[in-house]
Amino acid sequence: MVSSSHEIARNLLYIMSERVRYSNLVLADSFEMQRMYQQFATRDALTGLHNRGWLDEMFEREIRRSERDGHALCLLMIDVDHFKNINDSFGHVAGDKVLVAVGESINTPLRPNDLVARYGGEEFCVLLPETRLDNGIDIAERLRKRISGAVPMMIDGKQLPVITVSIGVTAFKPGSSLEVLLAAADKAMYAAKNAGRNCVRAAA
Ligand code: GH3
Ligand code: MG
Ligand code: MG
Repeated sequence: MVSSSHEIARNLLYIMSERVRYSNLVLADSFEMQRMYQQFATRDALTGLHNRGWLDEMFEREIRRSERDGHALCLLMIDVDHFKNINDSFGHVAGDKVLVAVGESINTPLRPNDLVARYGGEEFCVLLPETRLDNGIDIAERLRKRISGAVPMMIDGKQLPVITVSIGVTAFKPGSSLEVLLAAADKAMYAAKNAGRNCVRAAA
């Protein structure tokens, strides 16, 4: 039939090319959906930073890489001071806006290969590859100053107090684990709280 009629051959070609075009569209859609789901799964919905699940996987990977290459590595645990007061005095929406602003203040000045995530609540974690403890403390101090030096936010015509953070810093020891590293940074962060907040403390 095809060889006997140009008309039939043309129609057949047209139908086949439409089918291929449609399949390509379906495929492109499913890639886009996959990308979107991946984004939702690894990002924190409020701050847009990476979330805890991403942290567990990527921090672990970075630790193993540093260990293999013999590079130093530091972890920062950052906790907003008296954050409950912000919620209690100005409402949760204001609290949310503060978290977004703190997240941005932490993320913006860091190097592209530094890893940042919202650990949970009002706590953030930063992994600094190829960084010794003394440099990690300097970076933490710069972040702390940047956050406490930010212009106080105005929300609904009300001025919020200056937001400060307490930061714990720790260096990775070869043979150790992410769990141990997180616990050490957390302990150092609590030492900063006990020292009066708005400061940096390091754990050996
Ligand atoms: P400290 O200086 O000791 O860290 O005191 P704090 O008030 O910051 O600590 P606390 O753990 O008592 O309070 C943390 C608060 O953070 C309690 C919780 O309701 C609030 N929080 C956690 N996640 C969110 C969030 O996504 N949005 C808002 N608005 N609040 C949150
Ligand atoms: Mg906390
Ligand atoms: Mg807090």
